[in-house]
Order: sequence, then C-alpha cells, then structure tokens
Amino acid sequence: MDKGTRFKALVVEKMAEREFAREIRERSIEELPPGDLLVRVHYSSLNYKDALSATGHPGVTRQFPHTPGIDAAGEVVSCGSGAFAPGDKVIVTGYDLGMETDGGWGGYIRIPSAWAVRLPAGLTLRESMALGTAGFTAALSVLKLERAGVKPAHGEVLVTGATGGVGSIAVSILAAAGYRVVTATGKGAEATFLRDLGAAEVIPRAQVTEGAERPMMKERWAGVVDVVGGETLAAAVKSTRYGGAVTCCGLVGSADLAMNVYPFILRGVSLIGIDSVNCPVDARLQVWEKLAGDWRPEHLPDLAKEVSLENLEEKIQAILHGGIRGRVIVKLS
Ligand code: NDP
Repeated sequence: MDKGTRFKALVVEKMAEREFAREIRERSIEELPPGDLLVRVHYSSLNYKDALSATGHPGVTRQFPHTPGIDAAGEVVSCGSGAFAPGDKVIVTGYDLGMETDGGWGGYIRIPSAWAVRLPAGLTLRESMALGTAGFTAALSVLKLERAGVKPAHGEVLVTGATGGVGSIAVSILAAAGYRVVTATGKGAEATFLRDLGAAEVIPRAQVTEGAERPMMKERWAGVVDVVGGETLAAAVKSTRYGGAVTCCGLVGSADLAMNVYPFILRGVSLIGIDSVNCPVDARLQVWEKLAGDWRPEHLPDLAKEVSLENLEEKIQAILHGGIRGRVIVKLS
C-alpha cells in the first residue's frame, strides 16, 4: 500500500487552554504512529471515554492533534509480526488506541499487532462494534460476577446506568443467563426499552441511594454491575446480600467512593474492579467468544444506531450528558 494513501479522520485540535476544536480532515497513512499492524477500519464506536478524548479531557488524551476512537474493527492491510494475514478481520479495543495513539475514528489505524484479536465466528465487523468496549466491559463484569459465585438462584442483580452502552448490554446478557435483572435509570421514559432487553423491574436512579446515609442498608442484591461510581456504588455495596458481589467499571456519577468496611466484614461482600484496557489476552479472547456465542445479545441490531464521522458531534455531546440509549456505531467505509 502506498504510504501516501489518504483517508478521512476526525481530528481534535487544541486551540487554547481548555479549548478544543473537532473537524474532519484528510490524513495520510505516513502520519499514523509506528506499529507492525496496519488495519483498514470499517467500523468504530462511541464510548464515554471517546467523548472525553474528543473534548480534551487530560485524563484520556494530552497530545494533539489527535484522532479518538478506542474501538476499531476492520481488515488487515499488512502485518509485520506474521500474527495476521492481509484480509484477516480483526477487532481492536483498549490498550492505548484512541487515547494517545490515533484511534478508530479514521479510515486506518497502525498499532502493535498484540492489540488486535481475530473477529470471532458468529459476529460481523459491524456487530463487534455494536458491542465495542462497552459490550466487552459488560461481558467482563458478568464473567467476574459469575466467578465470584453469583448465581441466578441467589436473587436479583442490579444494573446501574442501565440505558447506557455498558448497562444495556449487561442487562441483555444477565437476563439471557437467567438472572432477575433490576435496572436503575435516570430515563423513566426508556422503561419499555429496558424491559424489552430483559429487565424484570425498572427503578428510578435515586431509589438505589435511598437510606444510604446508614452504615449498611437492607440486603437486596445478589450482584451488581455498576457504571456510576460515587454514592450509587457505595449504596449498591451497602445493599448487597450476604456473599454477593459488585463490579465497578465506571465513574459517570463520580470517581469518589465514600465507604465503610461493614458490608465486607459482616456480609462477605466482594467489590470487583473491571478494566477492559489492559485486560490480558486470554481473558480478552474468552470474553469475545462469549459475546459471539451464548452471550450474544439477542437485541444487538436494536441496541445500536449507526452514524458517520460527520454526524458524531451531536452524539459526543449527548453521551457527555448521559443522553445516549444503547450504543453508537461509527461507520468508516
Ligand atoms: P454511557 O454514557 O453510554 O452510559 C452511562 C449511563 O449512566 C447513562 O446512559 C445514564 O444511564 C447513566 N448516567 C449518566 N450520568 C449519570 C449520573 N450523573 N449519575 C448516575 N447515572 C448517570 O457510558 P458507557 O456505558 O460507555 O460507560 C459507562 C461508564 O463505564 C463510564 O464511566 C466509562 O468510562 C466506564 N467504562 C469503563 C471501562 C473500564 O474498562 N473500566 C470500559 C468501558 C466503560 P441512565 O440514564 O439509564 O441512568
């Protein structure tokens, strides 16, 4: 392939301190960072972290100009390590993609081949991005709850931030696996969407934290998938039943966690951290196999809306304000 091959990408520029501009530009392959794997991107997606990168959040991206996109799915153009052949279909999520390394919101990415996994049989490239990092994180959360011993017979499982990317896919996986899923949402109008995904009960966000000023709350949840953090996570831990487990992956509410030790030492509750970025490759492959197999969300086509780079701006603003339902796929070619 000609190093001068040009492609379209969304580029974020730093204009002044705390002032960032986004525009769609032509870039060339020679401008991409070094790496032994060149991939022609067919689809990417929008995650909360992408919106932070696109708006210059220093916790995600510090070097500009920059192309965000922590997810990419496409075809291998060339691979120096021999791990993949030209034409192989691959998924790339996490590591440094879309953070300081130019990401999936452009027609090509160049990365270390160790960051890519083969597209599993049972998923198309488009479907893999309907899942993306959010779906991966939801599945990893459920896997960790199961490993902690949480079973459908133990009782209800709570999913917070339920209409969002991680939440909606977690609801779908847990319901299909036989759990009674209770969803906490700020979007009462989306109760039908959540019930269609498999939620048995939809509760207002604020209900999770009712009575949370007490050191411990009434036992309710056998397990919790939390994306919100802060008071919501603290309340979820305090209301988890004896021997139950809570996964923590996000901070849309707050990065703080004010807790006491009682749920851990009196109820044996486990708090489990979830990291999709540096998740080891064996777990990574296992999660994608599950997502392509018995955890493949039945409602996958309905969970995601597709946009072009040109239409991303509105969605970036929406996700920053908690306004997205399900997932957003970005179509590159
Ligand atoms: P989304 O924006 O798609 O979903 C988040 C949902 O949380 C919203 O749709 C909303 O759902 C709810 N929400 C939004 N703001 C608030 C608030 N202030 N208080 C309470 N609830 C709120 O994001 P994602 O699902 O993509 O990501 C969720 C979180 O998980 C993010 O913090 C993200 O950074 C993190 N994450 C972490 C990963 C890891 O590896 N650890 C990987 C992927 C994501 P509703 O209206 O239904 O309540």
